[in-house]
Amino acid sequence: MVEKYDYIAIGGGSGGIASINRAGMHGAKGLLIEGNVIGGTCVNVGCVPKKIMWHGAQMMDEMNLYAPDYGIDIPTKKLNFSKLVKNRETFIERLHGSYKSGLDSNNVDLLNGYAKFLDNQTVEVNGKRYTADHILIATGGKPEFPAIPGAEYGIDSDGFFELTELPERVAIVGAGYIAVELAGVLHGLGSDTHLFVRQHAPLRNFDSIIVEGLLETIEREGAKLHTYATPKKVEENENGSLTLHLEDGTTHETDTIIWAIGREPNTQNLNLSLTDVKVNEGGYIRVDEFQNTTAKGIYAVGDVTGRIELTPVAIAAGRQLSERLFNHKPLAHLDFDNVPTVVFSHPPIGTVGMTEEQAIDKFGVAQIKTYETRFTAMHSSITKNRQKTYMKLVCCGPEEKVVGLHGMGAGMDEMLQGFAVAIKMGATKADFDATVAIHPTGAEEFVTMK
Ligand code: FAD
Ligand code: NDP
Repeated sequence: MVEKYDYIAIGGGSGGIASINRAGMHGAKGLLIEGNVIGGTCVNVGCVPKKIMWHGAQMMDEMNLYAPDYGIDIPTKKLNFSKLVKNRETFIERLHGSYKSGLDSNNVDLLNGYAKFLDNQTVEVNGKRYTADHILIATGGKPEFPAIPGAEYGIDSDGFFELTELPERVAIVGAGYIAVELAGVLHGLGSDTHLFVRQHAPLRNFDSIIVEGLLETIEREGAKLHTYATPKKVEENENGSLTLHLEDGTTHETDTIIWAIGREPNTQNLNLSLTDVKVNEGGYIRVDEFQNTTAKGIYAVGDVTGRIELTPVAIAAGRQLSERLFNHKPLAHLDFDNVPTVVFSHPPIGTVGMTEEQAIDKFGVAQIKTYETRFTAMHSSITKNRQKTYMKLVCCGPEEKVVGLHGMGAGMDEMLQGFAVAIKMGATKADFDATVAIHPTGAEEFVTMK
C-alpha cells in the first residue's frame, strides 16, 4: 500500500520545515520525513548551539579583557563547561517542542526515518511507501574528514557539540566559517587553541579588509594561528594525547583535533539513481532558479544544493518554492543576490554584496571606488586590549551605488541587517551620506566615511 500526500519534504532541517509549513498554510497535506532529530543542522549542531557558545566566549572576553579596566573586579571567573552545555541542550529541547507544534498547526505529519526514492514520485521509509506529486529534497550536509592517516582520532563540528568537558589543548584544522568560529569560542572559553590553515590566512576569499582585520585581531587576542600548515597524519600517543604531523615536517601535540575543512551533501543514501535527479561534481543536487531538479516534481533547497549554505537561505528558498507550488505564484523564487552573512568570530564579521576584488572583476577597476576606515571601538577605548573595527564600502559607477559592505568589529553582527536592506534597495554612497549618524556607535562610521 502507498500512502498519498500533496507534498513530501525529505529532511526536517531549516529548508524542509520552512517549506512544508508554508505548503500547509496554503492547504496542502504535507509529510515531513526526518531521519534524526527535528531541526536539522542549524538547531542541533549548527547556528543555535554555536551562538550560545559564542555568547559564553564573549562573556569570558568581557571579564578577562575589559572588566578590570572598567574598575570591575570579578574574583571568580571559573567556567563550568558542562553546565553551559547542559543549559544549551535544554534550550534546544524547547526548540524541538516548538517546531513540533508548528508542524501540528500546519497539519503536517512528521515521520521519523530515513527516506529513499523508489521512483520519481515514491519514497520508502521504514519499509512503507509514500507518494506525492511534489517531493522536496532538503537533506542538508555533513562535515568532511580529511583523507589522511589517523584522521579518525579527530572530531568534527558535530563532535564539538558532544564535548562535555572543555579540552585543555585543541587544534582546529580548516580555514572557513566553522574553523574561525570554533577557534574563537574555544580560545575565549580558555582552551589552549591552535588554528591551522593551508594558506596565508583564514577566510582568505573574504574582502581584503576582513582578512587584514582577522589576522590582526587573532594575533592580538585570539588563538595561535599556524599558516601554510597542511595536515599530513595524526598519531595517538601512549599518554592519550594526539600528534598532528604537518606536510612541512613539523608536529604539534594536543588533546583534541577538530576538522573544519568543509561539508559534503547528504545525497548518497537517497537512491537518486532510481530517479531523474542529477547531481553536480561533489554530489550537490542540480537545481534551476526555481529549485526544480532535473526530475519533474522533485525539488531541492538548502545545503544539499551547495548554493550559499546558510539557514535563512534554505528557509527563504523553501518558502518561495511552496508559494510557487501551492499559492498560485508561478514566478516565486529566491533572489540569491546580496545575501548578508555574519561569521561569529570575536569580534564578529559582517559582509553583504561583492568584495572589492569581485567588483573590479565584474565592472572594471575604473568603475570602482572604495571607502575604508579602521578605528578603536569605544568599548575598548579605556582598556589595555584595544579592539579595532574595520569597515569598507565598495561603490560602483558615477552614482556610487554601494555593491559591497564589509566589516569586522564589536556589534557588526547586529549592525549588518539594516544595511543589507539598504543595499538590496540599491542605496548609493550619497544615500549613506544623507543618513544622520547615531552617536556614539560603531555603525555611524558606515554613514560618515570620506
Ligand atoms: P539541514 O539543516 O542540515 O537539515 C537536513 C536534515 O535532513 C537533517 O536533519 C538530516 O538528519 C535530514 N536527512 C538527511 N538525509 C535524510 C534522509 N534520507 N531522510 C530523512 N532525513 C534526512 N548558518 C547560518 O545562517 N548562521 C549560522 O550561524 C550558522 N552556523 C553554523 C554552524 C555550524 C557548526 C554549521 C555546521 C552550520 C552552520 N550554519 C549556519 C549553516 C546552517 O546550519 C545550514 O545552512 C542549514 O542548516 C541548512 O539547512 P538545510 O535544511 O539545507 O539542511
Ligand atoms: P568552508 O567551505 O567555509 O571552509 C572550509 C575551508 O577549509 C576551505 O575553504 C579550505 O580553505 C579549508 N580546507 C579544505 N580542505 C582542507 C584540508 N584538507 N586541510 C586543511 N584545510 C582545508 O567550510 P565550513 O565547514 O567552515 O563551513 C561550511 C559552510 O557552512 C560555510 O561555507 C557556511 O556557508 C556555513 N556556515 C555558516 C556559518 C555562519 O553563517 N556564521 C557558520 C558555520 C558554517 P583554504 O582553501 O583557504 O585552505
